[in-house]
Amino acid sequence: MMSKMINEFIRDLYKTNEFIPLHAPTFDSTEKAFLLDTIDSTFVSSVGKYVDEFEKRVANYTGATRAVATTNGTAALHTSLHLADIKAGDLVITQALTFVATCNALFHLGAEPVFVDVSANTLGLCPNAVDDFLEQHAVLSEQGCIHQKSGRRIKAALPVHTFGHPVELDALISVCEKWGITLIEDAAESLGSFYKGQHTGTFGLFGAISFNGNKIITTGGGGMVLCNDAALGDRIKYITTTAKVPHPYEFYHDEAGFNYRMPNLNAALGCAQIEKLDTFIKSKRELAANYKAFFYNSIFRFVDEPAHAKSNFWLNAVLCPDQETRDKVLAETNGDGVMTRPVWRLMHRLPMYKNALRGSLPNAEYFEAHLINLPSSPVSV
Ligand SMILES: *Cc1c(COP(=O)(O)O)cnc(C)c1O
Repeated sequence: MMSKMINEFIRDLYKTNEFIPLHAPTFDSTEKAFLLDTIDSTFVSSVGKYVDEFEKRVANYTGATRAVATTNGTAALHTSLHLADIKAGDLVITQALTFVATCNALFHLGAEPVFVDVSANTLGLCPNAVDDFLEQHAVLSEQGCIHQKSGRRIKAALPVHTFGHPVELDALISVCEKWGITLIEDAAESLGSFYKGQHTGTFGLFGAISFNGNKIITTGGGGMVLCNDAALGDRIKYITTTAKVPHPYEFYHDEAGFNYRMPNLNAALGCAQIEKLDTFIKSKRELAANYKAFFYNSIFRFVDEPAHAKSNFWLNAVLCPDQETRDKVLAETNGDGVMTRPVWRLMHRLPMYKNALRGSLPNAEYFEAHLINLPSSPVSV
């Protein structure tokens, strides 16, 4: 089975001879109505009813006690890490197989990533690999988990629910508890993904979601911090809105806050999009089932959802038998206007993170060389 059959199959799914993007947003009249309503109200910026409404609806959907909207997913991560007391010089365990934002959020706090391998069946941070790394390189002291060689603190673990597939949360939580480190979830890609019936992003101290244009629902640009502690939820709101002490007309700020509040205009888009989230997930799960059946018994291996998880299948993926096949398929699908792409370059290959501490990364390296993402927009019904 080679590229020609793959192209034909995908063109058949999307019923088009035009260019097929990797992931495009879907809008209808609701988005337009909510946007017009926002413009008519003049509340297009940092105050307005749609922000509160969107936050409430995401909290309801995910089961989080609080959901606080931000300008984007990177800002949601930055805020989460800041409130988890991640400071300059701290180390945070994360995966090399991720989008660069995960590491950039750490970088801008002066903290550094420590790359540990991903699981073969989740594509997300591997609990055993984390425990092995810590057993080899860390000690648990009164100051917490210390990286022996550098004497620096390992403060948190930041797993990514890659392509919407939940990591092994039970095991990861146990490892975090054993080593006294905080769990923060990069749930940027996993809105609508559940682990043992509980929504991803609600297991750690914080979970960060993204509503970028290519995510499962979009606000243009946007993000959300989830947490299960009302007081912490208030802290997120406060720090993302310039830490202004409430007063009818006085301007007084008592700490250096961020200006990360999602504008009402974007939240209006979010309120329209979240109404369709379940429809999108249903369509994307059907799409995934179609891909799975198509690649069954071929030289390619479809990346399925892990056990105990219900994935949103944000991006579908297949593993090629070797890198040569991968490169051929990438060239021949893109050449025919069917957009596919390899997974991100691993983070330790980027100039900013090449000196970061890391364990051995055989699974991440395997995915880097073999994986292809396939067009994954919901098929219109
Ligand atoms: C999209 C994404 C982000 C960042 O979200 P933005 O809204 O683009 O800032 C962070 N981490 C992962 C894994 C992502 O896919």
